Amino acid sequence: MIEVHPDRRVPVAAKALFDHTLDSLGSLLADWNEPTYRARQVMEWVYRHGAEAYTDMTNVPRRLREKLSVAAPIFEGQILRKSDSDDGTVKLLLGWADGGNSECVMIPDEERRTACVSTQVGCPVGCSFCASGLDGLQRQLSAGQMVEQVMRIRRLCEPEDRLSNVVFMGTGEPLANYDATLAAVRTINAPWGMQIGARKITISTVGLPAQMRKLADEQLQVTLALSLHAPNDELRRQIIPWASRVTIEELVEAARYYFDRTGREITIEYVLLGDVNDRPQHAEELAAVCHRMRSNVNLIVYNPVPGLDFQRPAPRVAERFLDSLRAHGVNTHLRRSRGLDVDAACGQLRRQVPQVQRARTAVATKPMTSP
Ligand code: SAH
Ligand code: SF4
Repeated sequence: MIEVHPDRRVPVAAKALFDHTLDSLGSLLADWNEPTYRARQVMEWVYRHGAEAYTDMTNVPRRLREKLSVAAPIFEGQILRKSDSDDGTVKLLLGWADGGNSECVMIPDEERRTACVSTQVGCPVGCSFCASGLDGLQRQLSAGQMVEQVMRIRRLCEPEDRLSNVVFMGTGEPLANYDATLAAVRTINAPWGMQIGARKITISTVGLPAQMRKLADEQLQVTLALSLHAPNDELRRQIIPWASRVTIEELVEAARYYFDRTGREITIEYVLLGDVNDRPQHAEELAAVCHRMRSNVNLIVYNPVPGLDFQRPAPRVAERFLDSLRAHGVNTHLRRSRGLDVDAACGQLRRQVPQVQRARTAVATKPMTSP
């Protein structure tokens, strides 16, 4: 079922609450000659009690609540669409006050509730099998806009089903929006914030070695997922444009560095594209790459994207690929496709919104990093 909400526009704020840390909110309050413990109260209301508005914060003086609602508004995005899949997956399309739309997804599993969030509007990489990069990059998202997506998804979970995991696997390349992504991770992880353990947070990257090393040095325990999708540079360059700037060898070195610094295994993501990268020799080559680092492999069957000329491999081909990796001693599993009936392949919901609405997006305001 799809509910369409009107795109009510709200004024762009000085700084959204979700862009604040406990310290920065404390500084704002200190500038106003307010006690800084109020910052902790506000954060508790928002992140612990799920307050949607300052009016809920009954132990904060009214005139301060009014001031904060202008200077640091909560929930700036509007829900433009909500799509419920038969398998329980729920997808939201959020429209931002400063332009552009983002999709985020709640993926329920037996014991887990996972939020999948976007890091950019569009994507600068343009992988040939992915809906997200078809229109290029429109703009970066702020840290607060990433946190807001996770908070929106948290609100979809039943009270007894705590949101347990966050994956940065929606539209965009997180490491090409490094500072905002890291700030969002810190808020999601913070004791004053969402309190989701770093090990339950996954950053997925197409592979930017310098940023992978930087992330390794952050003293965080986040899971790093590397979208490899091909076991050799020649094939990788045919499906991932940015692979022309970086070799698998460089990615292996960066992944090894990540493991050495964090002790965290790398998750290798591999989308199986029928007759492209799913042959027995590809599985053998991939196993050899995997043996060069501490890793596990997530095989994902291609989710069809309208207008793109790829096929899903037959189930027996995917099984054969899986068996071959296992026979070579690689820890791997085949990921179920979730939310197919709500176009959960990343970037698809956003593209269903008329061009005119998407064209409101501003030009990227922050510099973008590439390998
Ligand atoms: N840009 C980052 C994170 C977002 S993409 C990255 O590429 O890792 C998240 C994952 O979705 C990637 O592994 C990507 O390859 C996968 N993906 C993209 N399009 C897909 C499709 N049509 N079917 C299945 N998986 C897809
Ligand atoms: Fe961008 Fe990731 Fe999609 Fe490639 S797979 S276009 S890097 S979002």
